[in-house]
Amino acid sequence: MDSEQLREYGHKMVDFIADYYKSIEKFPVLSQVQPYYLKDLLPDAAPDQPEKFQDVLDDITKKIIPGVTHWQSPNFFGYYPGNSSIAGFLGEMICSGLNVIGFSWITSPASTELEVIVLDWLAKLLNLPDQFLSSGHGGGVIQGTASEAILVVLLAARDKILGRIGRNSLDKLVVYSSDQVHAAFKKACQIAGIYTENFRVLKTDASSGYGIDPKKFDQAIHDDMEAGLIPFFLCSTVGTTSSASVDPLVEIGQITEENDMWFHVDAAYAGSACICPEYRHYLDGVEYADSFCMNAHKWLLTNFDCSALWVKDSSALVNSLSTNPEFLKNKMSEQKKVVDFKDWQIPLGRRFRSLKLWMVLRLYGAENLREYIRNHIKLANLFEQLVRSDSRFEIVCPTLFSLVCFRFLPSNDDNDGYELNSMLLDAVNSTGQLFFTHTIISDKYILRFAVGAALTEERHVRESWKVIQNQATIISRQHIL
Ligand code: PLP
Repeated sequence: MDSEQLREYGHKMVDFIADYYKSIEKFPVLSQVQPYYLKDLLPDAAPDQPEKFQDVLDDITKKIIPGVTHWQSPNFFGYYPGNSSIAGFLGEMICSGLNVIGFSWITSPASTELEVIVLDWLAKLLNLPDQFLSSGHGGGVIQGTASEAILVVLLAARDKILGRIGRNSLDKLVVYSSDQVHAAFKKACQIAGIYTENFRVLKTDASSGYGIDPKKFDQAIHDDMEAGLIPFFLCSTVGTTSSASVDPLVEIGQITEENDMWFHVDAAYAGSACICPEYRHYLDGVEYADSFCMNAHKWLLTNFDCSALWVKDSSALVNSLSTNPEFLKNKMSEQKKVVDFKDWQIPLGRRFRSLKLWMVLRLYGAENLREYIRNHIKLANLFEQLVRSDSRFEIVCPTLFSLVCFRFLPSNDDNDGYELNSMLLDAVNSTGQLFFTHTIISDKYILRFAVGAALTEERHVRESWKVIQNQATIISRQHIL
């Protein structure tokens, strides 16, 4: 590694990225390339001799950028946001520069210790119960994704109960969630060996705001116990992926407590909003939870990846996930003086991700982060008003946080608007002027407009709405609706 070369190339790369952000609005938000476009543009083997840095940069401009969907565009309204910020970016730089693999405390004490401290900071901003802080039996850990967070706590809960009732009772273990839970939960159950027939999906509807109905949950537990099964895990959501709906944590939390079940709260997207006192009530009931997760990489200005998971009792994770081969043994770990985060996650190796979260929290400060969230929620409310002012559209469910769910109304019966709305979505996205996505709720095709990109301003929301309206008009004319 030649430091002077790093300095030279590093400056050029920072310039390149700064220019990218400056000109980001000129790119189509959704990449317009066709599958395998890149195969024709690049050689089919790695070069034998080093190439020039400038040639690589030129290829990024000409060959890579066209195949990029611009998540950081102010006109990106798809899925949920994946935030980037200068602070997060700089944190990533220092993480890459140091490039430590901090699986055990000794492999970089600062990596473990900063993570413990920063997750305590964030827990305090979210006003999580003290049991989630590192001062007790629990604490926070950064996972790559909310999916990994669900998996590790499911494994911990599974092994905890099997330790009590015997490992051959796996076929009796039952898990619960609503039909709005993220697909990550099903995947985690598959990996954890939960029997498919023991996966209870509680149906939700508009009457419960697409949250879990506690009565249905209680009844399902009762029925399973009658059948000789063992309810042991609930995956609840604050801010579901389809509609941002919120499960009633207090009621369902009480039920899990009565039945001695592990209660996980997945607030991957909406958790960030709960740093604002006026939205913190969505987490009321988190005191019943055994584990809680939110993705700072979604809506808290921290570059991917940074999924924050807190548990009340870390020993459940460690008992399930710890391995201790000879080559990793060291005095600090043996004396149980330190946290070794390798035992709180699936992989061994781990990046120094707390640096970027620490930099975000320090370089913004909590008040600016709260204002950032509030502004997006304000913009989502503006978008909702715009939709409501056009009688060709309807708002499908209450706008929660910064997600607006709406649909173009069919004036004749075309499969209840399925084709019409999917046509509109494709037409809008292929303009490249904005990108948004869809879902199905109560068997209806719904358009989702998720505000949350760091660069989005009011003008982007207004202009995007105009594009949607124009495309709706074109489709209406073409199909003589
Ligand atoms: N949970 C919820 C509620 C989500 O909205 C998402 C993604 O949007 C996930 C989990 C999965 O997130 P990740 O990509 O971090 O696994």
